[in-house]
Amino acid sequence: MSFTVAIVGRPNVGKSTLFNRLVGKRLAIVDDTPGVTRDRRRGEAHIGDLAFTVIDTAGYDDAKGENLAARMRSQTEQAVAEADAVVLTIDARAGLMPLDSSFAGWLRKSGRPVILVANKSEGRGGEAGRMEASRLGLGDAIAVSAEHGEGLGDLYDALAPLAAAKGEAVQEDGAIHEGEIEEDDEPKALQLAIVGRPNVGKSTLINQLIGEERMLTGPEAGITRDAIAVDVQWQGQRFRMHDTAGLRKRARIDEKLEKLSVADALNAVRFAEVVIVLMDAEKPFEEQ
Ligand code: GDP
Ligand code: MG
Repeated sequence: MSFTVAIVGRPNVGKSTLFNRLVGKRLAIVDDTPGVTRDRRRGEAHIGDLAFTVIDTAGYDDAKGENLAARMRSQTEQAVAEADAVVLTIDARAGLMPLDSSFAGWLRKSGRPVILVANKSEGRGGEAGRMEASRLGLGDAIAVSAEHGEGLGDLYDALAPLAAAKGEAVQEDGAIHEGEIEEDDEPKALQLAIVGRPNVGKSTLINQLIGEERMLTGPEAGITRDAIAVDVQWQGQRFRMHDTAGLRKRARIDEKLEKLSVADALNAVRFAEVVIVLMDAEKPFEEQ
């Protein structure tokens, strides 16, 4: 298993921007609407010669009825459980918020190494926020600007020793991990994309298939904005299902966010082995 880093923090601090910066391509959709990231994502990250797996975590402010803090905590715990190190991101321009302190509290108890990152630190606007962050009891925050690609050298310096420590541990216990054997033996997941016009019920279908409310569904068209991948196992076969944002006529794709969503959907189709085209039985033959 490669060295894995989870990026956590409250909504809108720039986690997805940092994720994209580390992965080097646009995988997570970034937008200034809090909560745009609706699921966890993984990517292969690089800073210089350091390669690792990075996990982006969701914005949680779309909790349905459930207690926001509780849900945020459980999702963060999941990501942290999969990670060797955690990057707690704060917004240096906004300064410290009570939610940042909650995160710090949970993470201190997790026993994982935590690296504190003060994002949005380009220019001078972030210095006060960065200083304030040392109150979290996680050491000094590293000044980073995910958007402008600044501070990554300092992040490298923080991550490299942790990655090296993990690499040595792997070598000492005989090169192969149990987890790796399992992974190699497992059949490859069948890549499945579900596409269709907005609002035909794609996310509802996936929820039914996996038996949980993982996708957010709703009557407003376009509620799924990222192409989200879910792993399921059914009768011994592994599937990776890609829910996609609805495709509309190109001429009507004007909004920035929708363009990105459509690009994501087309990508999911490109990588899929099987594509399910879902139609609304009451409006079967629309032009799309
Ligand atoms: P997330 O909810 O934590 O994933 O946050 P996003 O990555 O979606 O970013 C939220 C907003 O902050 C977007 O408008 C980004 O463009 C903006 N942002 C992200 N990184 C930076 C940064 O380094 N500097 C500034 N000024 N804005 C940033
Ligand atoms: Mg995000």
